[in-house]
Amino acid sequence: MNIHEYQAKAVLREFGAPVPRGIPAFSPEEAVKAANELSGSLWVVKAQIHAGGRGKAGGVKVVKSVDDVKNEAKRMLGSTLVTHQTGPAGKEVNRVYIEEGAAIAKEFYLSLLVDRESSRVAFVVSTEGGMDIEKVAHDTPEKIVTFSVDPATGIQPHHGRRVAAALGLSGDLSKQAVELAQKLYTAFVEKDMSLLEINPLIVTKDNKIVCLDAKVGFDDNALFRHPDVVALRDITEEDPKEVEASKYDLNYIALDGTIGCMVNGAGLAMATMDIIKLYGASPANFLDVGGGATKEKVTAAFKIITSDPKVKGILVNIFGGIMRCDVIAEGVVAAVKEVGLKVPLVVRLEGTNVELGKKIIKESGLNVVSADDLDDAAQKIVNAVKGSK
Ligand code: GDP
Ligand code: MN
Repeated sequence: MNIHEYQAKAVLREFGAPVPRGIPAFSPEEAVKAANELSGSLWVVKAQIHAGGRGKAGGVKVVKSVDDVKNEAKRMLGSTLVTHQTGPAGKEVNRVYIEEGAAIAKEFYLSLLVDRESSRVAFVVSTEGGMDIEKVAHDTPEKIVTFSVDPATGIQPHHGRRVAAALGLSGDLSKQAVELAQKLYTAFVEKDMSLLEINPLIVTKDNKIVCLDAKVGFDDNALFRHPDVVALRDITEEDPKEVEASKYDLNYIALDGTIGCMVNGAGLAMATMDIIKLYGASPANFLDVGGGATKEKVTAAFKIITSDPKVKGILVNIFGGIMRCDVIAEGVVAAVKEVGLKVPLVVRLEGTNVELGKKIIKESGLNVVSADDLDDAAQKIVNAVKGSK
């Protein structure tokens, strides 16, 4: 689960990390009120969307008057921001964050993440802050320093000193970096984060280290421990299809292709997506209905797939082990009765209760193409979709 920058900064503030003062606003009037409350002579108006790259796209503006705070808030609110992370459709801005402006001397990059190779929390640090870290990693990988923290010892001052050394900081700034590393690590572990990215981490002209941007993601599997984090969820930032799927506990991820897939088991789902690609089309989603899916769950899954206007054909590929083929068949038939079926449907069933499943589909009168194996099924749906264009 992801949260907005202003929420991430509030979490960091809780742990004592240095972040600029700021107030979120939902209207230009609230933005003016926020700017007056912050006082000072320099403000930053920041579009709050769950994507980075806002600066280059006009979603971060440093301004010198309350009038300009209002103008920028007015311009951003309700507009669609397209950044290199939003995809071409962009994201609508529904809230802005008004911050006190900082005088930047240097911009760095600092993040914490779960390193799957070492099974530890790792720091990623670079002097090349404020820019696209993927580009830095690609062009100048030597400018990125990475190390992990042994969970048995937890965060130690030497970790912080490594951060300071990587950033070329000494004296009091090194001390600040040590404190910051400790606070960020504590926040990361206590809140079960999966990613904590500060880009840029800055040194101000009066020699203070400040987290100027913050991106935080949480481990969904640990959310049950953090009702305060769950309360920060903004479902308008999420794909409505994925929100609907999460209600039914379906493993669903929307993709860009044209073939909707309903599969049981993550491995089979991946194989299904691969073979669709092999035959020249692309999957519209990843969907694993899971092992013990009920008819209701299957119906919900099928409805989510058919509600996607990008879907030009559907492939149901089930290998019934724990999952029974008749349950799948009943779910599909129930969903089609409710919402109709406007695109070709290929069904490949195998395994437990396969004969019963096939019978249910046959007797439903649905216009279904049945397939014998995965290869056959993939070719049939790809051909059907090609024909429909
Ligand atoms: P992102 O583009 O979505 O990652 O948004 P950021 O919060 O990282 O802001 C983009 C850039 O705006 C930063 O790298 C800074 O260069 C600039 N910026 C943000 N806040 C301030 C500020 O308080 N003062 C100044 N001078 N620049 C800022
Ligand atoms: Mn940033």
